[in-house]
Amino acid sequence: MAIASLSEIPAGAGELSVWPASTTRLPHGDMAVGGVSLAEIADRFDTPAYVLDEGEVRERCRTYRAALPEADVLYAAKAFLCRAMVRWVEEEGLGLDVCSAGELELAVTAGFPPERIVLHGNAKAPRDIGAALRLGVGRIVVDGPSEIARIAAAVGPQGRQRVMVRVVPGVSAGGHEKIRTGTEGQKFGLSPADGSAQDAVARILGQPRLELTGLHCHIGSQITEVEPYLVALRTMVGLMALVRDAHGVVLPELDMGGGHGIAYRPGESALDLTALARGLRTELGESCAAAGLPVPRLVIEPGRAVAGPAGVALYRVLAVKRTGRKVFVAVDGGMSDNPRPVLYGVRYAPRLVGRHSAAAARTATVVGRHCEAGDVLAADVELPGDVHPGDLLAVPVAGAYQLSMASGYNMVGRPPVIAVHEGTSRLLVRRETLEDLRSRDVAG
Ligand SMILES: *Cc1c(COP(=O)(O)O)cnc(C)c1O
Repeated sequence: MAIASLSEIPAGAGELSVWPASTTRLPHGDMAVGGVSLAEIADRFDTPAYVLDEGEVRERCRTYRAALPEADVLYAAKAFLCRAMVRWVEEEGLGLDVCSAGELELAVTAGFPPERIVLHGNAKAPRDIGAALRLGVGRIVVDGPSEIARIAAAVGPQGRQRVMVRVVPGVSAGGHEKIRTGTEGQKFGLSPADGSAQDAVARILGQPRLELTGLHCHIGSQITEVEPYLVALRTMVGLMALVRDAHGVVLPELDMGGGHGIAYRPGESALDLTALARGLRTELGESCAAAGLPVPRLVIEPGRAVAGPAGVALYRVLAVKRTGRKVFVAVDGGMSDNPRPVLYGVRYAPRLVGRHSAAAARTATVVGRHCEAGDVLAADVELPGDVHPGDLLAVPVAGAYQLSMASGYNMVGRPPVIAVHEGTSRLLVRRETLEDLRSRDVAG
């Protein structure tokens, strides 16, 4: 599936700025990602389909490692995980952040070193803790007081498990209320303001089978400013100083979580990784010096910023309808493969691909095929006025929190994932079939 290079024009900035860096324009309105034509992918793998640019994922991992060489960078698996992703992240030297036995088992059985994995979650099932201990994860992040004795009891007399404490540093940040996790009044973490974080630290230090390696926080997601991280960091270092004063224990690690924002549409801002790295480094040095603490090892956990911009969703137009003053363009996917617009009201910038159109642009709303009026993929976007059934639409920045949140609604079946890299395409996850759905339905 290699593409002749003569007519390729680099995507560059402008309207393709949120597409993978490998994106090029091809003749007849087609586009290539990772050197592979999107129209060819649609023909070969059918639609809807998710395209994942391996080079973009790897490059994003490398950029993180280069920006913060002194830190541990963990990829947050919940953004999107499959075995190939596990391997790429491993080969690029990142760790992994998981939140269930499922993510953990997939990663370890795909060859990921368990000591580089951190398990977190506000409500860990016995199965999650059991898998973490059996497989030997590097850290478990304690999110509530009742977990401490449960984990210690599950460790067994011979073992010792490294843990961290999830702290809410009292910082509200993030792209939507549902993804702001840094303050009290939401379900995650333990607060230093009411003393519950300090209590958890004391209880862990009293458990010989647990080794407290540090504090953890994750203030939210889709954050585009550096400042909330620095405010949170000051609180975290302050709490580390309190731990030292109360217990004489200097914690060697500080995990500042993820949440790094990305642009979904041209012109939107993203978190500046260079500025974040510089800010974290400076603030950590100064806060620790002021508190008389040695600088702990920094850990960060980006998910969206690694996977999101590497993905492109491909849909086929099934119907175009004009009702009142609105034009609806309905495609063959929707809220079952991308619930984000419904959940958070996020906006995307879909594009017609695979055909050149000279028609003037008009405002249309791209909707899915599901039986809910709220099944909107992209409200009020500019598309060529002659978009018709059979056309192909591509939605960039589709790599994070889409397929990982996909559902079986309407028994449409979840789309396949196709990796593209240096001119070749490869099926990573096959399409969910009616047989898959039927095989779970075990009684008639
Ligand atoms: C979700 C999550 C992340 C990743 O968040 P992104 O917004 O995808 O970067 C990191 N750490 C924890 C604890 C999380 O819950």
